[in-house]
Amino acid sequence: MIPFNFQYCRPSTLAEARDAFRQLQNEGKRPMYYAGGSETITMCRAGSIQPGAVIDIKKIPECNGISEHEDSLDIGAACTLNQIKDAKLFPLLGLICGRIADHTNQCRITIGGNVCGTIIYRETSLPLMLSDAQISIWGEEGLKTVPFQSMFCGRMELAPGELVTKLHVPRWALHAPYFHAKHTAQEKIDYPVVSMAALVHNGLRIAFSGLASRPFRSVRLETILNNTQESVTSRVEKAARLLQEHAYGDAEASGAYRIFVLKNTLTSLLEELNHG
Ligand SMILES: Cc1cc2nc3c(=O)[nH]c(=O)nc-3n(C[C@H](O)[C@H](O)[C@H](O)COP(=O)(O)OP(=O)(O)OC[C@H]3O[C@@H](n4cnc5c(N)ncnc54)[C@H](O)[C@@H]3O)c2cc1C
Repeated sequence: MIPFNFQYCRPSTLAEARDAFRQLQNEGKRPMYYAGGSETITMCRAGSIQPGAVIDIKKIPECNGISEHEDSLDIGAACTLNQIKDAKLFPLLGLICGRIADHTNQCRITIGGNVCGTIIYRETSLPLMLSDAQISIWGEEGLKTVPFQSMFCGRMELAPGELVTKLHVPRWALHAPYFHAKHTAQEKIDYPVVSMAALVHNGLRIAFSGLASRPFRSVRLETILNNTQESVTSRVEKAARLLQEHAYGDAEASGAYRIFVLKNTLTSLLEELNHG
């Protein structure tokens, strides 16, 4: 049960969403955008947030649909993980979507909610960072499309009232060789101890969730791993040394354990690459 009342709005255009946000904010209602609602409802129930109004974005056409274009695959921010997985158009992203939560929740959680949420894992951000995706954002100055990584530093840097409408993945990434490994403490559907995603495109590109307090992609790490003059063991040791001070520890797994998992996972990946 949610122990307080709140206003629910369901705009059908971007302009209505922006106007609703502005008006509700002026009324002091602390409005929030609402997509799958999985995080918002859990946090309202727990009492960690208390919005006076939510603005449901699922009826807005610009936030919906998956479409192929000459240069990109466009994914609406309100698309669910299950829609993305079933579309089978970006295999790495589809695989990651299929490994978040269970099927029931995958039919509800949206990609926009996953990258914009406060829960630290945001695993769908990994393929977006690796593919140099672009992101479209609707705000006071209209619609802008910018590199995903210019707005995402482990979490989305949105101004109040800004709404993510679409993600644009360049076409090369849809066919690039990929790798994903997700290790959890107990159940398959748990949050990751380490989730590692990689794309091969002019060398290895690699990004992580669970290992640190935010998802990240590191160019320094990629330089180490792409140095094929060195043995797999030596590259993995260097990678572990680079990352160990950032390793995240909580009740699920200590930082040292996450680094242990990282080393095994990286070794498997580099050996797989060595074997073509
Ligand atoms: C059982 C379970 C297991 C899970 N396991 C994992 C896991 O292993 N890895 C992982 O990464 N995630 C996992 N998740 C998902 C994650 O924890 C969040 O619940 C989910 O990503 C939120 O998505 P949503 O669409 O439900 O967002 P909502 O609850 O609707 O919104 C979340 C936040 O994002 C904002 N928001 C939503 N859409 C937009 C938008 N388009 N523009 C701007 N702001 C927006 C909202 O205002 C809110 O602040 C799990 C969830 C569940 C229920």
